[in-house]
Amino acid sequence: MTDFEKMAELLFPAELKTPEEYEKIYPPRDLPEGAIVSRFAPSPTGFLHIGGLFAAFVAQRAAKSSDGVFYLRIEDTDKKREVENGVTGIVNGLRSFGIEADEGVISETEETGKYGPYTQSSRADIYRAYAKSLVIKGLAYPCFMTEDELSDIRRKQEAEKKNPGCYGEYAKYRNITFEEAKKRIDSGEEYVLRLKSPGSEENKIHFTDGIKGEIEMPENIQDVVILKSDGIPTYHFAHAVDDHLMRTTDVIRGDEWISSVPIHLQFFDVLGFKAPRYSHISPIMKEEDGGKRKLSKRKDPEAAVSYYSKVGFPKGAVIEYLLTIANSNYEEWRESNPKTPNEEFSFSLSKMSKAGALFDLVKLSDISKNYISTLTREQVTDEVLEWSRDNAPEFFSVISKDIDYTRSVFGIERNEIKPRKELVKWDEAPHYAEYFYNELWDRSRDFDGILPKEDMIEILTEYKKIYSKSETAEEWFPKIREMSVALGYAKAPKVYKKNPELYKGHVGDVSSVIRVAVTGRRNSPDLYEIMQVLGYNEVMRRVDESIELLSK
Ligand code: GLU
Repeated sequence: MTDFEKMAELLFPAELKTPEEYEKIYPPRDLPEGAIVSRFAPSPTGFLHIGGLFAAFVAQRAAKSSDGVFYLRIEDTDKKREVENGVTGIVNGLRSFGIEADEGVISETEETGKYGPYTQSSRADIYRAYAKSLVIKGLAYPCFMTEDELSDIRRKQEAEKKNPGCYGEYAKYRNITFEEAKKRIDSGEEYVLRLKSPGSEENKIHFTDGIKGEIEMPENIQDVVILKSDGIPTYHFAHAVDDHLMRTTDVIRGDEWISSVPIHLQFFDVLGFKAPRYSHISPIMKEEDGGKRKLSKRKDPEAAVSYYSKVGFPKGAVIEYLLTIANSNYEEWRESNPKTPNEEFSFSLSKMSKAGALFDLVKLSDISKNYISTLTREQVTDEVLEWSRDNAPEFFSVISKDIDYTRSVFGIERNEIKPRKELVKWDEAPHYAEYFYNELWDRSRDFDGILPKEDMIEILTEYKKIYSKSETAEEWFPKIREMSVALGYAKAPKVYKKNPELYKGHVGDVSSVIRVAVTGRRNSPDLYEIMQVLGYNEVMRRVDESIELLSK
């Protein structure tokens, strides 16, 4: 037995599988050439940031567009940051935007796929096996430095203007003997396991980032921690082991990790793994006071993914929006392919912007308005029901009573050729639909200042006479125009403007009176369609009620 082997037995006395065995348990994936295996690897903090959703979305699209695999791994090695049901928050957050992983964690207690466990806390033995293999190779050692010693070094390095950290001459235990280690361990001293970094200050590493392009950085020289004193791996080490064994081809993640790439590549190297391709996504930015800053969890409600579900941006619209900020050629593609499902767009990592995408709620609203206008009445109804069930229960209980009726309410002006663009998000639905439901509508009417009261009473009284159950959309307006002329109103606003003294008003004023009588509002979608939905009896009741109101 070599001293390194003795050291390995000392540090890992319990039975462990060998790396070779793990290689067999997790063989290379059988996928077509060029298929991307990507993942989303959040900590279970329950909070899904829009940047996280964006990263997950990009990783999923990259995998999908190459017939690859996208999986969800939960990185729960930092117990301090964890919250109860944190996994549920993430899984549901992703799911509410249609991002389902092909494998990995699917709920608080379940996983699917052959490359698991996909939760880091269940992988302790795997990390230990690989850590042990590094000790055997003389590439890892126990470090007994105390917090105080580490701060002393830091102070010394600062004073001498040296790079901070545990490396080279400062790495006090990098050549510790088996005997010394044994003595310290036997006397109960705590230690961490460190990498004995083979890096040198003179060397540079080069890699091609899928988004940022060619990158050169100094090689890692730090003896970074592999396992903490409680035996839990650091992110760096777990990343290399997991992404290797899960056969990840592409690590797509936030660019806060770019500075750690030298450490990661060194781990892949010393462990004898092929390194994945890296693609680092710049953070989502927000414009403020003429400048740009990162979207902040603390300051911006729209940083949380839950915000979009709460206000009811349809998931399809958010996905459309994410695609426009992800790939600069998406908008153009969408214009030429208005009806094609976005999954058919060929997504490419290399078209991602190197600088941070600017998150723009106005643009999202615009996209959302267009998107909603393309939905069918059934789709809108389903989405409004789903949104209101959680976010507007009273409204939900009213609109869910008669779903056919609700479909016709949301079906107004939803035609193929020129659909009305009105709703931006579902939290506008209660206001939009209010007057269609007697339980919701307060029956107030905005008649003020349209015409003198007696004239409005006259219009409504005459309108009752001409409104028929069976008229078509084409017949309806000419009848109103005819009635307007008979009552002394100009047949068009233009005509009125030329000689206002000749008329009581114009046909637009007459329509306004009818509109307010029926809907309470000055503005509404197509009045004919509204009346068709409400039905003859209800329209008549509302006209009568208005006459009464105006007569008071
Ligand atoms: N757990 C890391 C994070 O949440 C994952 C980074 C990665 O994707 O590798 O930032």
